[in-house]
Amino acid sequence: MKENIKNFTLDELKEVFISLGEKPFRAEQVFKWIHVENVDCFDEMTNLSLELREKLKERYLLKRFKIIKKLESKDGTKKYLFDLLDGNAIETVLMEYKFGYSICVSSQIGCKMGCKFCASTGIPFIRSLEAGEIVEQILAVQKEEGIKISNIVFMGIGEPLDNYDNVIKAIRIINHPKGLNIGARHISVSTSGLVPNIYRLAEEKIQCTLSVSLHSSNNEKRSEMMPVNKGYPIEVLIKACKDYIKATNRRISFEYALAKDNNDNLEDAKELVKLLKGMLCHVNLIPINPIEKGKYTKSTNDNIIKFRDYLNDNGIVATIRRELGSDIDAACGQLRRQNLEEK
Ligand code: SAH
Repeated sequence: MKENIKNFTLDELKEVFISLGEKPFRAEQVFKWIHVENVDCFDEMTNLSLELREKLKERYLLKRFKIIKKLESKDGTKKYLFDLLDGNAIETVLMEYKFGYSICVSSQIGCKMGCKFCASTGIPFIRSLEAGEIVEQILAVQKEEGIKISNIVFMGIGEPLDNYDNVIKAIRIINHPKGLNIGARHISVSTSGLVPNIYRLAEEKIQCTLSVSLHSSNNEKRSEMMPVNKGYPIEVLIKACKDYIKATNRRISFEYALAKDNNDNLEDAKELVKLLKGMLCHVNLIPINPIEKGKYTKSTNDNIIKFRDYLNDNGIVATIRRELGSDIDAACGQLRRQNLEEK
């Protein structure tokens, strides 16, 4: 199988060109064709000789996803079902904010984490995405819409820290000034709490934002919602978060999906304040999106506001996340890998 040329960082691409007996500056040209000019094929790289283009074609793929389906929400949010060209499909969501376009990318085909409230649970895990397949979600959407994306969130299907190497590589590619040039501070990685890889991330010297899906400050409840808590319980997770903050000086964002009569009462808010007091953090409250056959339902607006106010009144910065794309199943936790056969 030929390797996808979008998998390479610029440094790796330079090595590739040296091994082909070419000058390293060719790598910069090609990197620019891929990530800035966003070309569909090697033949569009007109400042390369025909011979070099042929050499590249023989050895590498320039993987361009096909759009199987595109849905547009009333609020402007768009959801794409992409054909990965190997019989698999993934979903990507584009959102428009005042500050620009933000994209929610998938990191795996399926997910192993088994969170009870998430639509990705219950569908088989197939494989992790390659770095180039993560990057291509951005490139394909930019191409389709004729826009420049300014923010990336790793909050689509999959657990990014379970596909650690490819996610880090994708971030380095996306972040590179000679490529897409999206600042690390505009990139968020969300994790269900894979503690060892939170420690690894702390050492990467990447200024991206870490989001931690907490959802409860009580071990019994969290284990019920998120099986990962049995391996890395709250105290271990919070210790890792504190160490992460110490190592990076970066604020952590905690995700908290509010489910009625489960984790949304005042006692829960009190426990949460105790847990996070004094930490450099922010809490993102998400009205939970009920999934088919799921046992969790949305908190009332009244409870959501009370919960937020209690946190804010007690020194924890909390905001309620605006729900976008719910009418096209593109809101938080609603993405579901679809089979090509389902078309
Ligand atoms: N695996 C990673 C990233 C993917 S999920 C993680 O767990 O963080 C992105 C975010 O959506 C997570 O915070 C996740 O807990 C949340 N989420 C999943 N299902 C949801 C639902 N039904 N309603 C609201 N948020 C949900």
